[in-house]
Amino acid sequence: MAATGSILTNKYSEGYPGRRYYGGNQIVDQVEDLARRRLTALFGADHANVQPHSGANANVAAYQALLNTGDTILAMRLDQGGHLTHGSPASITSTYWHFVSYGVTPRHDDPAAPGELIDFDNVRELALTHRPKLIVAGATAYARRIDPAPFREIADEVGALLMFDSAHVAGLIAGGSHPNPVPYADVVTFTTHKTLRGPRGGAILCREEHAKKIDSAVFPGMQGGPLENAIAAKAVAFKEASLASFPIYTDQIVRNAVAFASALTAEGFRMVSGGTENHMVLVDLREFDAELTGKEAQEVLDRAGITTNRNTIPDDPRSPFITSGLRLGTAAETTAGMEEDQFVLIASLIARALRQRNDEGAIEQVRSDVAMLCHDFNPYIGFTK
Ligand SMILES: *Cc1c(COP(=O)(O)O)cnc(C)c1O
Repeated sequence: MAATGSILTNKYSEGYPGRRYYGGNQIVDQVEDLARRRLTALFGADHANVQPHSGANANVAAYQALLNTGDTILAMRLDQGGHLTHGSPASITSTYWHFVSYGVTPRHDDPAAPGELIDFDNVRELALTHRPKLIVAGATAYARRIDPAPFREIADEVGALLMFDSAHVAGLIAGGSHPNPVPYADVVTFTTHKTLRGPRGGAILCREEHAKKIDSAVFPGMQGGPLENAIAAKAVAFKEASLASFPIYTDQIVRNAVAFASALTAEGFRMVSGGTENHMVLVDLREFDAELTGKEAQEVLDRAGITTNRNTIPDDPRSPFITSGLRLGTAAETTAGMEEDQFVLIASLIARALRQRNDEGAIEQVRSDVAMLCHDFNPYIGFTK
């Protein structure tokens, strides 16, 4: 936060270190070089571009670098857990490239094989039929580990490039809690503000053969001047992610999510895919209360002081604005120092608020319990006035 609010925000620096279109970038060059070096070292990549202003920009730039307009991309469908930039009709990506979408396997009620996992038979079948030039792995609403190896195998079988969009799990990968896609993927894109715990922004890693094209696609292809204050903050985040404390942090994130999922299940909620292996739980609300929508749950919890995100679940009968699900994450509270016991408490607070949602006094009581918990676990001590 200190780097993001620094005087680096006031400098124009179009171009790359040593090749700027403006003078006065001696310090800026050091900052951006440091960020690039730390990032390539963190993930063991050939090349890094730290300029994308967001994850969406990183994805569009990667498509632009690797593909021609109209080429086919195989990616995960939005309502199955994919991101808007994986070809949603609402995203600019679907204007310039042709998308074919894969999804998850059907839901089963067998706890040993719950379903709602990436359907690799479907991925392979679609790849063989449509011969995409690029396959995209990665998701935005998916609580399971994504293994890069089977994606690489399918890409090789059909001669496609592989991009891994690791936006949500970049921090879990850096901490060693999830497999590193860099050895498998031609390009890896991500956001720096999700589990990587840095400033709001994006970044791209790639193999040396794609480096020049990636850099030109980001600038001048897609963006103008970089946000060097954000790049300085990215350099800080990459350093933090390389410290011995970071794997302890990411391991706790995952353990908290697992505890959270089982506590929510005990409260009567159904977890999509039966549980979690990352920082996220995707809750199907219909089992808890058939009348309760994601929209209403989010609004009730807002009143109770609990911030959540309504989200579609696979094959959701309701619209993306209403939804039947909630997406919850453990990363921020883990930073605040919360452990399994606190997540069991949070699950009970959520259940209490939603069960008694028509009783303002009960919501007020949950709100005061939430305030006490947040008072005990404040991640901003030393930051806020
Ligand atoms: C969040 C996310 C993005 C986009 O990041 P923004 O910074 O919001 O543009 C892209 N892909 C995935 C998988 C994401 O989860």
